[in-house]
Amino acid sequence: MPKEIYSIADLRDWAAATKDAPIPLRLSVFGDPVAHSASPPMHNAALEHCGLPVRYTRLHIGAPDLAEAVRLLPKAGFLGTNVTIPHKHAMPGLMDEVDQRAGQIGVVNTVVVDGDKLRGFNTDGPGLVRALRADFGVDLRDLRVLLLGAGGGAGRAIAWQCAIENCERLVLVNRTVEKAAALAQEIKSTFAAARVGGPGDRLIVAPFENAALRAQLENIDLIINATDVGLKAGDPSPLAASLISAHHMVYDTIYVAGRTPLLRAAEQSGARVANGLSMLLHQGALSFEIWFNREAPLAVMESALRKAVGQL
Ligand code: NAP
Repeated sequence: MPKEIYSIADLRDWAAATKDAPIPLRLSVFGDPVAHSASPPMHNAALEHCGLPVRYTRLHIGAPDLAEAVRLLPKAGFLGTNVTIPHKHAMPGLMDEVDQRAGQIGVVNTVVVDGDKLRGFNTDGPGLVRALRADFGVDLRDLRVLLLGAGGGAGRAIAWQCAIENCERLVLVNRTVEKAAALAQEIKSTFAAARVGGPGDRLIVAPFENAALRAQLENIDLIINATDVGLKAGDPSPLAASLISAHHMVYDTIYVAGRTPLLRAAEQSGARVANGLSMLLHQGALSFEIWFNREAPLAVMESALRKAVGQL
């Protein structure tokens, strides 16, 4: 039987390490930790459904081994890999080519092995765009967005996607406010022009404090949580229910089977809510499309993902 999780030692002699796998393992997710990743069941359901003769696995790769692991991929016969915590930021420097948008963001989550060359992409931001369309029937470009956690990896990808989409307004909020301010500097040129909302500041950095958030939330359509507050049992909501109104859409990037503390608070306030399962699904579908140049079987992937996350 193939293992649930492989190591750098396995990758050094991939043929020997995977000789028991009935179908060759040619795609993976690199992470540390990686056991929690729901990507293998989601992608394997898609690969099986499409009759593709390869499978997807987990590779537990620590930061000191990342560069070597990436370089071993062509020799091991891989088609590509996904990358998760904590490696996404280190990946652009390890690629031979980086897609323009992934290069702007400075974050790669999808790698294509093209002969001996490695090409990097980012599907997190575009995945969120598709998720919002599916969950709320809206386009990011039309929205006034308040982003909690605009200092972490996910927050960075989302803020850049808001800039690329030229959304109406973006309020960056982060516990360590300096990180949000630095991110604002990177994306500010995109927000220089006035849009239909008027010439007021379209890009704002706000402290993670109730009074400052209340002042901003009146002019916000979509609240996105990209902090990890809500991930652990017993976590509070990152935003008090009293700050959320019925006109808000609230998207929590945390993916769980049920409601996160933020989504429970938002529902109390009558807001529309969705959780990060759809972002995970759509970023995965976009990776699949990059690897195979064909449409991903979304319904099959979603059903496998829901089953996997329900068991986490
Ligand atoms: P990360 O790089 O470690 O960033 C964590 C973020 O959370 C930072 O902005 C951090 O603020 C903030 N934070 C942590 N503890 C906090 C607290 N007690 N109060 C306020 N803010 C706090 O992690 P990441 O990789 O971006 O992941 C963040 C979240 O996104 C996770 O919940 C993850 O599950 C989710 N995510 C979902 C998807 C998806 O497909 N659905 C994809 C990627 C990530 P500081 O900067 O001040 O430390």
